[in-house]
Amino acid sequence: MNRIKTDILIIGAGSGGLSVAAGAVQMGADVVLLEGHKMGGDCLNYGCVPSKALIASGKAAYAQRHAEQYGVANARGTADYAAAKDHVADVIAQIEPVDSQERFEGLGVKVIREFGHFISSNEVQAGDTVITARRIVIATGSSPLVPPISGLENVPYETNETLFDLREPPEHLLIIGGGPIGMEMAQAHVRLGSKVTVIEGAKALGKDDPELAAVVLNSLRDEGVVIEEDAKAAEIRGKPGAIEVVTNDGRQIKGTHLLMAVGRKTNTEKLNLDAAGIKTTKTGVKVDASLRTANRKVYAIGDAAGGLQFTHVAGYHAGVIIRSMLFALPSKAKTAHIPWATYTDPELAQVGMTEAEAKKAHGSNLEVVRFHYDHNDRAIAERKTKGFIKVMVAKGRPVGASIVGYQAGELINLWALALANGMKMSQIAAMVAPYPTIGEINKRAAGAYFSPRLFDSPMVKRIVGLVQRLVP
Ligand SMILES: Cc1cc2nc3c(=O)[nH]c(=O)nc-3n(C[C@H](O)[C@H](O)[C@H](O)COP(=O)(O)OP(=O)(O)OC[C@H]3O[C@@H](n4cnc5c(N)ncnc54)[C@H](O)[C@@H]3O)c2cc1C
Repeated sequence: MNRIKTDILIIGAGSGGLSVAAGAVQMGADVVLLEGHKMGGDCLNYGCVPSKALIASGKAAYAQRHAEQYGVANARGTADYAAAKDHVADVIAQIEPVDSQERFEGLGVKVIREFGHFISSNEVQAGDTVITARRIVIATGSSPLVPPISGLENVPYETNETLFDLREPPEHLLIIGGGPIGMEMAQAHVRLGSKVTVIEGAKALGKDDPELAAVVLNSLRDEGVVIEEDAKAAEIRGKPGAIEVVTNDGRQIKGTHLLMAVGRKTNTEKLNLDAAGIKTTKTGVKVDASLRTANRKVYAIGDAAGGLQFTHVAGYHAGVIIRSMLFALPSKAKTAHIPWATYTDPELAQVGMTEAEAKKAHGSNLEVVRFHYDHNDRAIAERKTKGFIKVMVAKGRPVGASIVGYQAGELINLWALALANGMKMSQIAAMVAPYPTIGEINKRAAGAYFSPRLFDSPMVKRIVGLVQRLVP
């Protein structure tokens, strides 16, 4: 058995683990990084990157079929599914070097390509190496949750770990799960020529504001996606190319391929957490606000910590624990300023409280301001007028923003900045945005907050009247 001692041991080389490794080693710590599978984890190999690349293929096909509105003849927009997958692989290959073993070794990290498990409170075994560390970071991510639906074991199905390798175009893709992953893949596939049916046990996009989610769901329905809601899959039967999902209320839904997108389970089973005195919850490793586990020397970050499961959250967690591990400074992870986006067309984005949450928290102090894309000149020029922004404001400060529409994932950045820094609506309104940009929607939402105060105020009218009469 080899034995190594290090300052920091990181288990898992995905978005979270890599961010900790790069930061810690460049600030002078000794770092060992374990990865049992692919460098880059879910986001690079099976998540954000391939899904956004496939969405881009779908967008290109859709744009060709809808060019006439811009005075350009419509084209057939026929997609070559296998070639779209080549594009996905090429995108991954372009980003891969940033997450590679070579790059991290170049930075001075010792990378061991093995799965690790705890053998004591401060020791982890990976293959034939035992690593003793001052601090240990669990960054093992999550995997697709495949619930035990009767018959599923006899039917071929895809998950996000296999879908991007599928080369044959699904004639009719059934997707169980109407969350962001399910809906993004539904739209990408319908645009690439598949029939698509989404089977959702409750409401599709149910974690977002229903008023905004409805805009996305209606767009998908207009494009031909069938969305079956309140439809719990009770039984699955059939064979390759002929699959049938039977719901608990008796609906029988037939397709050729099946994608399971019902949720995620955290990767903790290989870790032997008991040996280190680490506890878990229903959703992941149990952590406190500083992301420490029940074992004070061990942290858990990213998807493994079981909270919001996004790449940018894993990266944010990395910053939080670096401050604590390297500088022994108090450091807490917060969620109120964390944005997220679903990359359908139109996009759906959220930061801070939804309208319903803000009503509960702020009662009569809450004002909700809105602005619609169809009043934005750039959106009109681009024919992207579907959608709107809602900003929840309490005592002059935004406490949440919800956007559905073109580039909502870009627009939300400004509100993420505002919430992270406790900015006031007046500071947003003070910004000058270039004309004509989609970004003006943000400024106009701030304007919508001040307009009634300026234009409907008898006091303002009296002052203006007085100044006009009295000031020479
Ligand atoms: C289809 C899909 C689309 C997504 N799209 C987005 C998006 O657009 N934007 C966004 O922000 N997020 C998106 N996500 C979520 C995002 O991918 C995850 O939140 C992110 O990858 C979490 O990073 P992580 O570091 O916690 O875990 P991961 O990236 O999963 O990395 C964990 C790593 O740990 C390794 N590992 C596990 N156990 C061990 C062990 N015992 N020893 C050694 N190594 C181990 C794994 O092999 C893996 O490489 C998407 C996810 C999916 C599935």
